[in-house]
Amino acid sequence: MSIEPEQAMQEVYDVLIIGAGPAGATAAIYTARAELSTLVVHRGLGTGAASMAERIVNYPGIPDELTGDELVRRMHAQAESFGAHFVQDAILTTDLESEPNSASGNQGYYRARSVIIATGSMGRGEQVDGEEDLVGRGVSYCATCDGAFFRDQVVAVAGNHNEAIEEAMLLTRFAREVHLLVQTPELRADSHLIEEITAEDRVTIHLATRLLEVLGDDEVTAVRIRPRGQEERTLHVSGVFIYLQGRRPITDFVGDQLERNDAGCLQVGAMMETALPGVFAVGDLLCNHLKQLVVAAGDGATAARAVERYLSGRERLQPDWH
Ligand SMILES: Cc1cc2nc3c(=O)[nH]c(=O)nc-3n(C[C@H](O)[C@H](O)[C@H](O)COP(=O)(O)OP(=O)(O)OC[C@H]3O[C@@H](n4cnc5c(N)ncnc54)[C@H](O)[C@@H]3O)c2cc1C
Repeated sequence: MSIEPEQAMQEVYDVLIIGAGPAGATAAIYTARAELSTLVVHRGLGTGAASMAERIVNYPGIPDELTGDELVRRMHAQAESFGAHFVQDAILTTDLESEPNSASGNQGYYRARSVIIATGSMGRGEQVDGEEDLVGRGVSYCATCDGAFFRDQVVAVAGNHNEAIEEAMLLTRFAREVHLLVQTPELRADSHLIEEITAEDRVTIHLATRLLEVLGDDEVTAVRIRPRGQEERTLHVSGVFIYLQGRRPITDFVGDQLERNDAGCLQVGAMMETALPGVFAVGDLLCNHLKQLVVAAGDGATAARAVERYLSGRERLQPDWH
């Protein structure tokens, strides 16, 4: 049920879930189903990464194309049918060391005996010209999701880190030719990935080259690039996969209560537990993690089980497979 912040503030919930993408919404399905009183605070439908996915074809059990928004909407409805409460608000600060834990947003102050953080990771601030207009029509941020749409075609990948290079390698399974656009004069990734990509015949690596513009009316037809010290050029491609500047986990509101690395990532154990008792983190905000809907949903289910154990007083949070 969607409720107003004033109503949510009356209760100390068993679990507060911050974020309602696939990770948070799945956690809510499981905790509500386990009859834990569940409050989910989120910034609204249409806000997370899932909502940017215009065409999902790899979520297990849903072979028909579905938008990310629709998938998340269905998850919300499922969680609500089990009794979870949803509130729309943006969390700004948390107190994760007190009992109960609490979180404050623009509109309210929420309390719970445990917390699952599921706020995802933020997109880039700056965009390349033409990028926004062609998202879903040749511009993609996920070769794992969309690579198969580019079978036998020529594509470009812009980026220079492990994820970009792994995704470029994956694209060689589908695309006829992959142009890797790297802004710096050298590749910056783990050495085994550099070796692999350099040896791959279908990949042309353009070092010190900037992606200036994505071209096309209804769909991508080319990219405009500028190799350092040379004239601009046009490469004819039907897809461009953009991994520039990376995405940053949305974890600022935890302040220094939980350790974050330079990239803003939280560390968790096998049951998604953080260093603070009763506080868990799931989904895209974790690093070294495959950023996919099904993984986020799986994390949510694991954290929900851990919350249940934590609240029932079982001291050791051990995964079932131990
Ligand atoms: C363009 C695009 C296409 C994609 N396509 C696919 C695909 O086809 N298949 C696939 O498996 N994956 C795909 N992905 C990846 C997938 O969307 C993510 O892995 C997944 O959505 C991560 O789920 P999440 O719940 O961790 O985060 P998100 O989906 O990002 O959800 C984050 C939630 O946190 C909330 N939130 C954020 N900050 C706050 C705050 N301060 N207070 C309260 N709430 C907050 C948001 O409102 C949102 O509810 C795609 C991603 C993108 C960007």
